[in-house]
Amino acid sequence: MTRILSVDGPEAPVIKEAAAILAAGGLVAFPTETVYGLGADGLNPEAVALIYAAKGRPSTNPVILHVDGVDSAKALASHWPIEAQQIADRYWPGPLTLVLPASERVPPIVRAGGPTVALRCPAHPVALALIRAAGRPLAAPSANRSQHLSPTLAEHVASSLGGAVDLILDGGPTEAGLESTILDLSGPRPRILRPGPILPAELAAIVGPVALWAGAVRMGATQAAPGMAERHYAPRARLELVTPGTGLSPGPGRAAYVGLGALPSLPVSTRGILLPMDAEAVGSRLFALLHELDDEGYDRVVMEWPPEEEAWMAVRDRLRRASAKESE
Ligand code: AMP
Ligand code: MG
Repeated sequence: MTRILSVDGPEAPVIKEAAAILAAGGLVAFPTETVYGLGADGLNPEAVALIYAAKGRPSTNPVILHVDGVDSAKALASHWPIEAQQIADRYWPGPLTLVLPASERVPPIVRAGGPTVALRCPAHPVALALIRAAGRPLAAPSANRSQHLSPTLAEHVASSLGGAVDLILDGGPTEAGLESTILDLSGPRPRILRPGPILPAELAAIVGPVALWAGAVRMGATQAAPGMAERHYAPRARLELVTPGTGLSPGPGRAAYVGLGALPSLPVSTRGILLPMDAEAVGSRLFALLHELDDEGYDRVVMEWPPEEEAWMAVRDRLRRASAKESE
């Protein structure tokens, strides 16, 4: 049976217990400022293997190591370029992941056999306290079954992963609601592998021009970064994306329509949901809303496609992948 214990801050005694479970090779789900993470000792290959099994995650998809600061990060990279230092100085702790050449200490399973490692120092006080109490980097992908919606509440973790986790630390709803921005500094040029709360322009202001994977920019483009399967973040309901103001096309099943900034007129049987024309607000609410609509049994969720502005890039990326067909 998975236990869920609420944790009100970094001093909570349950953090010590959670650290002991991690040190013994177990799994603990915990809140971060982005989404809930499924944590294991990142230097223990058997513990990390439990993450892959619990999530049903393909072994080709590497996991992020969560650290308590730059010193721990440096010990896991074989090279720490000046750009990494500059980005960490500005955005750590925070929703920003750096991909760097891995040191020999990083087990192959963490890297999915590749030469690089992804590193992040989370800003959530409970996550930081847990990493410190455990005294080791924590491998912690989002705490959901592979390809499903990311969890922004402890209840989402419990319903997605159930008995596979030893302990869930319940710290309430997560703040950013979308996963970290991933910046790859291992190649000749900085490159964003996953758009997130920290925007490309903010990174470019520090490291100069950053390359972008094209799928984040256009609807329907495909992507080839490691482990970034096209279909991801998928709700049970069918998600359809439409031009703003389109309204609902006829179709079978119970439908919800999500408008941005305004709602068109809708059939009386359709639930209309109005979200503000505000990328951060929509980002923090998106996964929780899709979870709610799934729980309420909707068959179709029709959502308006956000503006093509940079601020909306992470939301567009999650929507595009949440609506991708199973076969893609
Ligand atoms: P999640 O499972 O939601 O935490 O996502 C972790 C993301 O980090 C996945 O999309 C991985 O592809 C990405 N990632 C982890 N390690 C690496 C790496 N060494 N190189 C590139 N991407 C990575
Ligand atoms: Mg995930």
